[in-house]
Amino acid sequence: MIRYFLARGDRAGSAVITQGLDDCTCSNPPPSVQIATLGMSTYCSACKQEGYIAPRGPRWPGTASNGKPWALSGDINICGCEPSPVFYAERGMSMTFTGEQAAALTGKGSVRTSSAATSILDCDEQVRAVMARASLAGYPYYIETDSGGAYSGRVDSSGLLPRIATREAERYTVYWGDEALAKQADRDG
Ligand SMILES: [Zn+2]
Repeated sequence: MIRYFLARGDRAGSAVITQGLDDCTCSNPPPSVQIATLGMSTYCSACKQEGYIAPRGPRWPGTASNGKPWALSGDINICGCEPSPVFYAERGMSMTFTGEQAAALTGKGSVRTSSAATSILDCDEQVRAVMARASLAGYPYYIETDSGGAYSGRVDSSGLLPRIATREAERYTVYWGDEALAKQADRDG
């Protein structure tokens, strides 16, 4: 299961997100958009009401600079409409879940120790660690490509991760923080 980060301008039926973070943007694909969090404002032209983004479905822990959890595709808009409109988005920032993890995170299974948000990012793109960039400098990361390549280190002061050179379009996964350190330890032996 993949859930994409929502951004200002994303829609749920007739509702549109009217708020976004200044310090967290995603430019994959362009143009750059401001990433949104739960509780951010929306406007629904069907019921002509202002509303907000409410959570639905599994979600890894982790919050934006405003202290709120990230808004994800599949979350719902709270407005006058019944049933609540569901947000849709596809972009280079996402959280992925196995069926087991999704069940655990939504309380339908046993909860395992959770890990940092895992992002699947598009190939051959220099990824700017835009999530709370200032505080990410020095943060450990571990990048694993589908072909078995691995890169690890710490986010530099510019917030940039190394450019991943892949010959063909290939997906890769970025692990952060404790999960990155665990991956690194596994690999080192
Ligand atoms: Zn509505």
